Amino acid sequence: MYYCEFQCLYVKNNHQLKIKGRDMMNIPMINLKAQYRKTKKDIMKNLTEILSEQRLILGKYCRLLEESISAYVGVPEAISCANGTDALILSLMALGIKEGDEVITTPYTFFATASSIALVGGRPVFVDVKEKDLNIDPELISRAITKKTKAIIIVHLFGRLCDMDEILKISKAHNIPVVEDMAQALGSGNANGKAGSFGDIAALSFYPTKNLGGIGEGGMVLTKRHDLGKKVRKLRVHGMGDTTYHHEMIGMNSRLDEIKAAALVAKFPFLEEWNRKRIDNAIFYNTNLKDLPLVLPEIPDDGSHIFHHYVVRTEKRDGLQSFLKEKGIQTGIYYPIPLHLQECFRYLGYRDGSFPISERAAKESLAIPVYPELKKTEKDYIVRMIRGYFKEHGL
Ligand SMILES: *Cc1c(COP(=O)(O)O)cnc(C)c1O
Repeated sequence: MYYCEFQCLYVKNNHQLKIKGRDMMNIPMINLKAQYRKTKKDIMKNLTEILSEQRLILGKYCRLLEESISAYVGVPEAISCANGTDALILSLMALGIKEGDEVITTPYTFFATASSIALVGGRPVFVDVKEKDLNIDPELISRAITKKTKAIIIVHLFGRLCDMDEILKISKAHNIPVVEDMAQALGSGNANGKAGSFGDIAALSFYPTKNLGGIGEGGMVLTKRHDLGKKVRKLRVHGMGDTTYHHEMIGMNSRLDEIKAAALVAKFPFLEEWNRKRIDNAIFYNTNLKDLPLVLPEIPDDGSHIFHHYVVRTEKRDGLQSFLKEKGIQTGIYYPIPLHLQECFRYLGYRDGSFPISERAAKESLAIPVYPELKKTEKDYIVRMIRGYFKEHGL
């Protein structure tokens, strides 16, 4: 017995020493187990009820979730669906985007923002982002508009609200609808409203790592336009109207399961607290890293950035990332390849140099853990290791 304990202790210490010294910590990019511990009781209660009732599809919890999110964001229509990508596709279908239509968007985003355009037959037209917050540049949207432009998809990247005043001005002037990709921005907002309430229609994701993450895939379409809401409700169930097996349009099968909706209903009351903690973590990092040769994200004081990701920028990105990995700190690169340089979008004719700000951001951006459950000791450790990297390199 003693021998076994000794062995384990020895192996553990040896491992720690070899990999990184006495006080190494292991910090993931996101800690879903910690989140589960906090919400487990409520989730299990709802799941038990659903399983005993066997009301599995489009029941009370989908309705509850739709009502909660629609009230929270401040739009009358909220339609749950299978995932955030489908929410984008359903939004574009409801707007009638079809073969040959151009849709303007950013190349510096998750793939689904642009693939959804191509999947409904449209043509993604990329314009570059702004240096300041890596969100789409409204000035460039104006210049990209043609007779074929039928929609604009803006992305509140990393949880930071886009310049909605400017974007809505352009949308009105040209009568082109705006789709908000708010997959990373539930709860972000300013004095004029919350993300998801500005444009014609918005797509939300409940992928487990998002700020409100489910126990599987999930998504939602939000809109203040009843005409679009009505259409999306049909499109998510094969285009069926009120009469079963009568199809007014060709829709998808994209529903949210009750068990997933029920878990989200249990987690939703914590969203504000979690977002607040993300902002507090961002403030902590900005305060403690400000003298380093790093570009830090701006923290607006109106709540218009909820830090789905906390992203710093440095030319030494790859070096910093491997250093932190050795120290047990997981980081992420969002996104390593801007969409205009993806192989599948080569047919669009863009090249290296088409969008310099996005391309540089792809080489310099590094997301460090900012999840709400981070402990003070972990944040201290992350700051100490980042400072250690620059010290070691004489920077
Ligand atoms: C996650 C995400 C999506 C897609 O959501 P899924 O639920 O994974 O399909 C779309 N756009 C952005 C910006 C995202 O971060």
